[in-house]
Amino acid sequence: MAGKTVLILGGGWGGMALAYSLRGMLADEHRVVVIEKNDTFALCMSNLKIMTGEWNSPADARRQMSNISREGIEWVHEEAVSIDPVAREVRTDSQTLKADYLVIALGAGLDPSGVPGFAESAYNLYEAEGAHGLQQALADFDGGKIVTLISRMPYRCPAAPFEAIFLMDSLFREKGIRDRVDLSIHAPGPRPMAVAGPAVGDALLGMLADRDIAYGNHVVSSIDSASRKVLFDGDEDPFDLLVGVPPHKAPQAVTDSGLTDASGYIHVHPQTLEALTDVENLQTDYSHVYAIGDVTTVTLLNMMPLPKTGVFAESEGRVVAENIVADIAGAPASARYDGRGECPVDIGGGLAALAGGAFYASPGPRITLEPPSAQFRRDKEAFEEVLDTWFTG
Ligand SMILES: Cc1cc2nc3c(=O)[nH]c(=O)nc-3n(C[C@H](O)[C@H](O)[C@H](O)COP(=O)(O)OP(=O)(O)OC[C@H]3O[C@@H](n4cnc5c(N)ncnc54)[C@H](O)[C@@H]3O)c2cc1C
Repeated sequence: MAGKTVLILGGGWGGMALAYSLRGMLADEHRVVVIEKNDTFALCMSNLKIMTGEWNSPADARRQMSNISREGIEWVHEEAVSIDPVAREVRTDSQTLKADYLVIALGAGLDPSGVPGFAESAYNLYEAEGAHGLQQALADFDGGKIVTLISRMPYRCPAAPFEAIFLMDSLFREKGIRDRVDLSIHAPGPRPMAVAGPAVGDALLGMLADRDIAYGNHVVSSIDSASRKVLFDGDEDPFDLLVGVPPHKAPQAVTDSGLTDASGYIHVHPQTLEALTDVENLQTDYSHVYAIGDVTTVTLLNMMPLPKTGVFAESEGRVVAENIVADIAGAPASARYDGRGECPVDIGGGLAALAGGAFYASPGPRITLEPPSAQFRRDKEAFEEVLDTWFTG
């Protein structure tokens, strides 16, 4: 059998899970090639640790991409600038790479310019540098109003901004100044994490209320950095310190490829992760072209998109790996993603709740929020450690 090339675009959470799964199953004659523009892998969930000061600097959350070559994974340190899904060809600034199997795992990029005033006014929680700036600002904060802002839907890790605000609450309690700090969070939608259903949303609202944290159902239109106000349609909220999640969008190369639909992302088959050309009938004209993780849209039975989280990107990567390996061996590609996933939600004080369940359930996702425990917090540490082993061996 002639050696095949699996080309993975993006060496983030999903891309690396896929690359390691493939390398563990494929003979050496087959190439596993990752195109990743950055020379480090960011453990971006650790932005919360940077924010609280548990980790000192952004460097603590970065791992060297060059380490993956030890595992027989080829790393092309370049930016993918165009993708041809029909020819399965990807162009960078210096070369064109041809794939037998093409997997797009380019994530969702951040677009702070989508909200006028965001870049000037907010600590960007979704960038390690923003979380680092916030670490110092929180250490210096002696009282006043902190607003956390979720700009648009969808965004990565629906729980993360809520974790951030629970951790801030915990931090100020430890400092003994919580009574001098006003905490609130604004997001589009009547409840947090709408995809998880009203019960989980109400449970989270209850946890916020218990800690005297206000929740506002608002879509930001702009931020006035001079007067320090978040402006909504017909409403406004002043702040002393603003923590923000900027709008997200698919990387330009993906948008330009014709692979995206009205969602702005690549609509994929929910079980096989093949990139679709006919979403309604779950059909595709492409052959051996997949997309996983945050760059995708999967529409659930409640008509909401599957959340953009690392645990889903990782599970999807493993399913695609199994199917590629089977196909190379001439066997049926029978692995199916089941839409299950769970993730601990840090609430401070060494505790985490556990959100998760069956997102593909009928008539809609069956999701629960298990009460906080120290064990769930330890579980969160454990899955961070798994990501670490990809780079440290
Ligand atoms: C603060 C925070 C906390 C989080 N906490 C959790 C958590 O607890 N649990 C959880 O499951 N998820 C969490 N997430 C979400 C999780 O990080 C993402 O869902 C996950 O990283 C998605 O994986 P991905 O492979 O789809 O994309 P990414 O991990 O974003 O990887 C995409 C990669 O593509 C690269 N890339 C982009 N464009 C190009 C290009 N043109 N050419 C080459 N390379 C390119 C990028 O550099 C990046 O490395 C958190 C996110 C944040 C921001």
